This record gives sequence, structure tokens and C-alpha cells, in this order.
Amino acid sequence: MAPVLVPILGDQLTRSLASLRGLAKDDTVVLMMEVWDEATYVKHHKQKIALIFSAMRHFATELAEAGWTVDYVRLDDPDNAGSFTGEVARAIERQSPRLVRVVEPGEWRVAQAMAEWADKFPCPVEILPDDRFLCSVAEFGEWAEGRRQLRMEFFYREMRRKTGLLMDGAGPVGGQWNYDAENRKPPKEGLAAPPAPKFAPDAITAEVIALVEARFGDHFGSLDRFGWPVTAAQAEQAAEAFMAERLPRFGDYQDAMVHGEDDLFHSLLSTSLNLGLLDPLDLCRRAEAEYRAGRAPLNAVEGFVRQIIGWREYVRGFYWHLMPGLADANALGATRPLPEFWWTGDTRMRCMADCIRSTHDNAHAHHIQRLMVLGNFALLAGIDPRAVQDWFLVVYADAYDWVELPNVAAMALYADGGRLASKPYAASGNYINKMSNYCGKCAYSVTKKTGEGACPFNALYWDFMDRHRKRFEANPRIGRIYGTWDKMGPEKQREYRASAKTFLDGLEPANPNWVR
Ligand SMILES: Cc1cc2nc3c(=O)[nH]c(=O)nc-3n(C[C@H](O)[C@H](O)[C@H](O)COP(=O)(O)OP(=O)(O)OC[C@H]3O[C@@H](n4cnc5c(N)ncnc54)[C@H](O)[C@@H]3O)c2cc1C
Ligand code: SF4
Repeated sequence: MAPVLVPILGDQLTRSLASLRGLAKDDTVVLMMEVWDEATYVKHHKQKIALIFSAMRHFATELAEAGWTVDYVRLDDPDNAGSFTGEVARAIERQSPRLVRVVEPGEWRVAQAMAEWADKFPCPVEILPDDRFLCSVAEFGEWAEGRRQLRMEFFYREMRRKTGLLMDGAGPVGGQWNYDAENRKPPKEGLAAPPAPKFAPDAITAEVIALVEARFGDHFGSLDRFGWPVTAAQAEQAAEAFMAERLPRFGDYQDAMVHGEDDLFHSLLSTSLNLGLLDPLDLCRRAEAEYRAGRAPLNAVEGFVRQIIGWREYVRGFYWHLMPGLADANALGATRPLPEFWWTGDTRMRCMADCIRSTHDNAHAHHIQRLMVLGNFALLAGIDPRAVQDWFLVVYADAYDWVELPNVAAMALYADGGRLASKPYAASGNYINKMSNYCGKCAYSVTKKTGEGACPFNALYWDFMDRHRKRFEANPRIGRIYGTWDKMGPEKQREYRASAKTFLDGLEPANPNWVR
């Protein structure tokens, strides 16, 4: 009998994937495709391409060892059609399947292409929901229906009730849903965390790294420190190390930043979660077990669980709820080009330079670096959201449209006009100074507000608030800062505006070749 053809995309590396469930191995051909279009529609960080191709090749090997027939198309296959649609068409010719069965993709662009398969191909096409997420797209839609603001906190409580995680009967363990207030400790002198495990490249990864150097040599980033988990077993090891060594202090220092300490107590599990190598619910249950066993405090475990069943699930629902409009949202009318130094790291701003260095070396930066340094800069400087979105999609090994876009457009840039956040995440140098050790050795002075040598975040902050006064004055969470601004008087206000202008005028726009 003609087989079922099961295309598995690069971020669907899960053995229990819905499209494989219930199929017989001798009646199924799994199709995996390394395609040029996906590797280059933006010029992804070299580590990101190496990670995805290596994890795909390992996954294909494991499936074959388990008895599945895998039709694997490599990037350098001379007949490679370069796109998912082209490769599925070629596989249909090779395999003559009776059915194509696939799990929905994580990206709007690919979903649009996939929606055309049924008309294009000679056999039926079945597109299944991706049930690796706890909240389906439809369920999120029902929750969002009729709400003007889509606050994560309320969604998160629903997810706690639904999963039973950290619940004590009908209420939250400890009496509170959220312990975020305890999770904002500034870094102590010499704060360092046990390093996350790194996995030395094996033969498969080494081959992929050579391919990436040869074919994507002009892409951003370095491969020297590549050590990402590329199999479920390695991801499992990374998760175990996190639970034992870093989870207990994850909460306390969640918002802290230390120069040269790239990971602190963060899990570094986003790449494995997003590839499908780890199960989100399982991870959260294990974190809860650490709390119940007295090995990790509630503020740490609740914080970790909230990131996964709260933020991660929420942004995915938010993405599908607001696409395609979200990609073009620009509520603050920001039009400035991205500065070149975002690619080179060539800036005297020590906080920005450190975040860009970590991004270049590791294809990673932690959440507060992404939000309160890089995102904050882009917000205050009024950089075009599409340019910022492109940058974030390129540079992080965990970046996929469904998670990158809502975080950048809605959380960091307020481009959605406040559907996600009740106020913009805007901050002056004071915040960065409080939460990091960046400022002490910076060429700029964080206490100087304007003029030569003043921390650029200070003038950019007030210039931003001034530019958007009409929108934010009535906002109950930040409106009161206009009282401070008014008290400064016209002379001081002029100085802020002039300092911001001098700084912004001095920024060299980025070369577009970094992205495409
Ligand atoms: C501007 C900006 C861009 C971002 N882009 C991405 C992206 O492309 N891909 C991505 O996976 N995350 C993104 N995030 C969210 C977050 O920064 C990363 O998930 C996190 O830094 C990954 O490192 P970690 O695994 O050590 O996370 P931890 O701090 O250990 O958190 C645990 C897990 O929670 C999840 N998580 C935490 N915060 C978020 C969030 N805001 N949205 C979704 N999941 C979250 C992740 O799966 C993460 O692995 C972005 C955040 C911002 C502010
Ligand atoms: S002084 Fe300003 S630019 Fe320098 S590290 Fe601090 S916040 Fe960043």
C-alpha cells in the first residue's frame, strides 16, 4: 500500500509528534528537509543554523534506528528544490504517498505556504494542531475573545488551574499566584553561577559546522563556542543540571546582569524547548517537585513555571491571535534605521557592548539583557520595529517567528499599542545601573543626565517620554512621571532633547546586508 508521508520540520523534533502518533512504521515515510529558503530568508546566526541542522540530523538518525523510514534531504543535495513546498513535491514523486500528514508550523509565512499544499499536490493533505503546546490556538482565541487588553497574568492563572501546577486545592501554593516582587535582586559583588553544561560537537555536529562555515560564512556570529544540546538526551542532561544547580537561585537573580557572566542562573533551555527536544509540562512538573522536596524555594520555582506555562504559552497564542497584523504593527510610528553597532558591538555603551558580544559569541542573551538593555534602547531610540524584529530573529539560537515577534514587537517595542503590556518597558540608565555592574566601568557616566559623557539612556528616556506624552500621560502606571518632567522646566527639557538628538544623529545606520 502507498505510505503516509510525514514531513517533520526543523523545530518539530519530538518523538511523540502528533503526525507520527498512531502510524505504523512500515506504512510511513518521514520526510526531513534542509532547505535554502529557510536558512536564508534572514541571515540567521551561524550557531542557529548549525544547531537546527545538527539536531535534525541527530533526530533523523534516532528515528531510523528506531525503525522508521526517513527520507532526509540535505542542503547540499544537488536536486534540493530549496523550499518546503518544492521538497514535499519531490518527495511525493519519489514515494507516491496516499496521504501527507503534517503538524502545523510555528510561523505564519510557512502556514500560508502549507495551506496551499492540498490544492498543489495529487494526494490529500492533513494538517494537525501542534499539541506540544499546553494551550491550543483555538483555546487562546476563546480566552482572548472580547478582551481589549490581553494580560499574561490572567492567562497564566488559567494555565495553573488547567495543569494543576503549584496548586493547593483551588488556590495557588503559598497563597499568591506570583512571586515576582521577590525576583528582582540586584547582583552582589562577584555574583557568578555554576555554568550550564556545554556539549562538545560530535561527528554530525562537526560536519554541520563545516557546512555552515562554507555556505553561510558571511552570516552574523561565531561558531567557536557552539555547545548547544542537539539531542533529547543532551537536553535532558542540561535540564537536570539546571534543576540541581541553578533553579534554586533562578528567582532571586532573574533580572540581574553581570558583565561577562552571560547566563547567570537562567536555564538556557529555550533552544531545546523550541526545537521540541524537551517537554514544557514535564519540565515544570520537575521544577515543582524540586520545590515540594524542599530543594528550591517557591519564588524560584513559581518564576520558572510562569516563564513556561505563562509567557511561553501566552506569546504563542498572542502571535496567532494577532497575525498577520502584528508583523507590521508600529503604534509609536518608529522609523529610525537600526544602528550598525548592533551588528559590530562597536559602541562605548558598556551594557550594549556586553549584550551584543554575548549575542555574537553564544547566539544567546538572557531575558533582561534582551528586554531592558537592547529592547529598551530600540524603544527609546524609536527604531523601526521591522528592523528590530529582523535583528532578533537573526541573532538568537532560540528565535522562531511565533516567539520572537510578540516579544520584540509587543513586549519590547510597544508596537502593538499596549495589547500585551500595560506600559512600555522604558527605563533610564538608573535601572540598568541598579540591576547590573555595567555602569561602573562604562565610558559614560550614569549619573550625568545630559551633555558630553552623560549616559545616553538618560536623555533618550526623557526624549521618548516627551515625544509620546499624548499617549502615555493618561496611563495610570506611568502618567505621573510627567509631573517630574514638567518640574524640570523648559531649559532642562531642552537639554534633554538636544542631548538625545546629538546622540541619535551620530548613529550610523546598519548595512542591510547583515539581514538579507
Ligand atoms: C526582545 C525579546 C526577544 C525575545 N526573543 C525570544 C526568542 O526569539 N525565542 C525565545 O525562545 N525567547 C525569546 N525571548 C524570551 C526570553 O528572553 C528567552 O526565552 C530566554 O532568554 C531564553 O533563555 P533561557 O532558556 O535561559 O530562559 P529562562 O530565563 O531560563 O526561562 C525559562 C524558559 O521560559 C521561557 N520564556 C521565558 N520568557 C519568555 C518569553 N518572554 N517568551 C517566551 N518564552 C519565555 C523560555 O522557554 C525559557 O527557556 C525574547 C525576549 C525578549 C524581551
Ligand atoms: S552608563 Fe549608561 S550606557 Fe553605560 S553601562 Fe550604564 S546604562 Fe549603559
